[in-house]
Amino acid sequence: MERDGFVLARLDDVVQAARANSLWFMTFGLACCAVEMMHAAMARYDLDQFGIIPRSSPRHSDLMIVAGTLTNKMAPAIRKVYDQMPEPRYVVSMGSCANGGGYYHYSYSVVRGCDRIVPVDVYVPGCPPTAEALLYGILQLQAKIKRPRVIQR
Ligand code: SF4
Repeated sequence: MERDGFVLARLDDVVQAARANSLWFMTFGLACCAVEMMHAAMARYDLDQFGIIPRSSPRHSDLMIVAGTLTNKMAPAIRKVYDQMPEPRYVVSMGSCANGGGYYHYSYSVVRGCDRIVPVDVYVPGCPPTAEALLYGILQLQAKIKRPRVIQR
């Protein structure tokens, strides 16, 4: 409500808006999808303009983008990194491989979906998904964060 130069808002709304617009993401590139993730962060799509900034430490990150093929060998590492991220934390599964194994679904060495290892908030489809698709997925995540009841687990 705006009146006489004052703006009133619920504290929850302000906190959720701050969270949604300052997503720092863990750079967890596993395979070819990571190239599209890098593309999204570069000048053309410029994730920084949405407050989405890459970080190299899980302790500074509140978003993990699982970009690529997750192997059984890598699964303990991804879980360890996820556990080191502070709450509240979010996960975007990027591409067919991360979503369900993709081309390697029947391989002995690939996890059939990263949601078997970490809880996923948004799935981005495609092989490879484009940088635009990843950007759209992150915008969907921001919308979910602003509606907190939808993602309470
Ligand atoms: S979904 Fe396609 S582009 Fe992405 S990691 Fe798998 S094979 Fe590569």
